[in-house]
Amino acid sequence: MKKTAVFPGSFDPITKGHESIIKRAIPLFDEIIIAIGINTEKKHFFPVEQRLKWLELVFKDYPSISITQYEGLTVDFCREKGARYILRGLRTSADFEFERSIGQINKKIYPDVETIFLLTTPEYTALNSSIVRDILRNGGDASPFVPENVTF
Ligand code: ADP
Repeated sequence: MKKTAVFPGSFDPITKGHESIIKRAIPLFDEIIIAIGINTEKKHFFPVEQRLKWLELVFKDYPSISITQYEGLTVDFCREKGARYILRGLRTSADFEFERSIGQINKKIYPDVETIFLLTTPEYTALNSSIVRDILRNGGDASPFVPENVTF
């Protein structure tokens, strides 16, 4: 059976941390769907079209990766796509606590799904999209923290 993983996130914007996790996961799955979750409650910084464009640019040379967006529950999206794996990155113990409850609830709702965590490499542990947004808001240079072809 084809191993399909969904990597859900906001990617607002994509960082080198996301890029690293996704590239490391390529050999583990036949297909990875990077999916921007549209959450109407959550305010975003960059429009979804822009976030999708960056993801497409960064992963254009990787045929097993596709990019899309979804609304609603991540597990419903996984079911719809026939994906039995959810991929997430773990930076800190705070990430772990947060991910543990989501992962356990997701498993309860969709017992066939497994959440697969990859530990962040040390150089990206301190990195997150909100730091990148802060740098940009204050006129700083965020380029060291985002993939090469992402420009603001
Ligand atoms: P969400 O809004 O779901 O937290 P994010 O785009 O912030 O979406 O994160 C999506 C996934 O990417 C999460 O699993 C998160 O742990 C992981 N991630 C975010 N930043 C990094 C990083 N610097 N290194 C590794 N993984 C990361």
